[in-house]
Amino acid sequence: MSERPDRARERAGRERPAAKQHEREARPLSDRVLMGPGPCNPYPDAVEALARPMLGHLDPEFLGILDETCDRLRSVFRTPNPMTLPISGTGSAGMEAAFVNLVAPGDVAVIGVNGVFGARMCDVASRCGAEVVRVDIPWGQPVDPERLLAAHPSPAVIAVVHAETSTGVRSDIATLGEGKGDALLLVDCVTSLGGIDVDVDGWGVDVAYAGTQKCLGVAPGLAPLTMSERARERLVERSPSWYLDLRMIGQYTGPATGPRVYHHTAPVSMILSLHAGLGAILDEGLDAAIARHAECGRLLHAGLGDLGLELFVGKEYRLPELTTVLVPEGVDDAKVRAALLDRYGIEIGGGLGDYAGKMWRIGCMGHTARPRNVTLLLGALAEVLD
Ligand code: PLP
Repeated sequence: MSERPDRARERAGRERPAAKQHEREARPLSDRVLMGPGPCNPYPDAVEALARPMLGHLDPEFLGILDETCDRLRSVFRTPNPMTLPISGTGSAGMEAAFVNLVAPGDVAVIGVNGVFGARMCDVASRCGAEVVRVDIPWGQPVDPERLLAAHPSPAVIAVVHAETSTGVRSDIATLGEGKGDALLLVDCVTSLGGIDVDVDGWGVDVAYAGTQKCLGVAPGLAPLTMSERARERLVERSPSWYLDLRMIGQYTGPATGPRVYHHTAPVSMILSLHAGLGAILDEGLDAAIARHAECGRLLHAGLGDLGLELFVGKEYRLPELTTVLVPEGVDDAKVRAALLDRYGIEIGGGLGDYAGKMWRIGCMGHTARPRNVTLLLGALAEVLD
């Protein structure tokens, strides 16, 4: 007698190789339009690079790509600084690497705080034993360079966030560079690099770091960092962090003057991906990529205004790549975000701190920064709010 079809199906299910079943379960479910504060949608070249065959982290072929990646980073940071490299870890690892290598116990660190990430810098600096001089600026306003420069007569470090992702504000860095005196100028470029102009040498920045998942259009996982020779001469003798010790990491990443010394296993695939993402930006032209972000910002800001929504930041300091907009009276922030995600596959971010539930943060970064995505979001938002 032949087996009943439902039994046969059941048996086939049981006999399905376990690996295949897991593969199916692990497959990502949705393809999103990522318009939150990061990650953005990565450039296709950066995605493809993640699937390339693995190379050893000391393989000459990989080391060639690593060197080229550092060169490409020099181009986007606009500096020939020899110490320019991808730190293993997200943007916060870049922040920590900057502080733990330059701030010794008792050093004065003047820090501008106009949002969450300036406050995080204070936390990191105080963990290094710094005497933190915190200069608070209301959320939605840029850091005031004159107040920072007047905050202490001889700080070791002046630190500031270029593009505050919690508020969508751009701060002036050049004036700080002009007035910094003997201090080192440390700048968070996590949400600015690749999206708006960053001119490390032109502005007199001593240390800058970024994150791959924002305007660089790569997955999260690396923190590009650059350090001036002036800062390099002031590296602390022994960083309290072994993993982020730039004296040791520099012996692996270069510039290669002798044999590379193993420090930690480089995240090979992420570096291949960053190499490809930077290639996409430089092929387009850095200025053209920045202009594309600016154009998307203009379209988005105008379209949000047409929907009757109030932008949080004044035009003069508003970032094109990260827009903050106030949730209208009587509208449920979380429900709108959930509807955008469920119905249209679009992710936007919510507010932080006092602005939780009261603000949306709309990112338009990297490969996401295309007018078609702005149009899609504006249409979707209009329908959801209707
Ligand atoms: N600095 C800024 C300005 C940021 O926007 C972020 C993250 O959004 C960070 C630092 C921390 O980066 P990460 O979350 O990648 O560690």
